[in-house]
Amino acid sequence: MSETARTQSEAETYQRLRAHLAFLKLADAAEALPRLLDEARASKLPLIETLEALLGVEVAATEDRRLTSRLRFACLPAPWRLADFDFSAQPGIDEPLIRELATLRFIDEGANVLFIGPPGVGKTMLAVGLARAGAEAGHRVYFTTASDLAARCRKAAIEGRWATMMRFYAGPRLLVLDELGYLALPADAAAALFQVINTRYTNGSSTLLTTNVGIGSWATAFGDDPMVAAAMLDRLLHRGVVVGIDGPSYRLRSHQVRAEALRTGTEVKPHASQ
Ligand code: ADP
Ligand code: MG
Repeated sequence: MSETARTQSEAETYQRLRAHLAFLKLADAAEALPRLLDEARASKLPLIETLEALLGVEVAATEDRRLTSRLRFACLPAPWRLADFDFSAQPGIDEPLIRELATLRFIDEGANVLFIGPPGVGKTMLAVGLARAGAEAGHRVYFTTASDLAARCRKAAIEGRWATMMRFYAGPRLLVLDELGYLALPADAAAALFQVINTRYTNGSSTLLTTNVGIGSWATAFGDDPMVAAAMLDRLLHRGVVVGIDGPSYRLRSHQVRAEALRTGTEVKPHASQ
């Protein structure tokens, strides 16, 4: 074969390859193709490495898009990561237990997690960190507050979308219900919450709940019917990990640091003006 004929058939093959990539909607691989071919020619790379690099580009881009969409769906209220949690600032926490949760085995096992503690101790931060880790590991996660869930369920019931709403909350592999117990739950809200927790328990999907209400007070704290609270707790605890966080409030701690700075600031001033 002459040189011209060879390059012409190569050019045609190249065009067909571009068409294949476009047909299969592998846009990132198509974009990387000229560069990868140049690199392959320049460094005389084996064919297998070039093919791997080409598909690797597409796999990385697809994983990236999927993670972005999982994180968008997750509705995390803050960009917190587990790595941002300062264990030394919270002596009231069982660090090995949090590290165990961070392996995300609890999601595979469909176990539930309860963070119980007063305001400001880092319950929401840990819940967000675990949810983000879950999304990064490929799980479908969803974050909401107990009162938001109650409000949406009530609206859904009025609009005849109850079943759809229940299917929605049953879907994610990990559901975070933040701030249970901060607001009193009316009976219909307690019933909605029970149904969500029960459905997820039956499916073997994990629910992570944060609350300021100690287990001993559940029967009286949620709704008017202590049986609903007891039944909810029963489902949660059967395959559940209870994490009590009873330490200093991080919010108050930062207040104290600010107050301290202000105080020293005002103490310094008279000296400075001398
Ligand atoms: P809770 O949900 O228990 O009321 P949060 O998780 O909302 O508390 O924490 C309150 C604030 O303090 C947040 O801004 C959080 O990022 C920060 N915070 C709490 N605990 C820690 C910690 N151990 N390390 C770093 N920041 C923390
Ligand atoms: Mg919170």
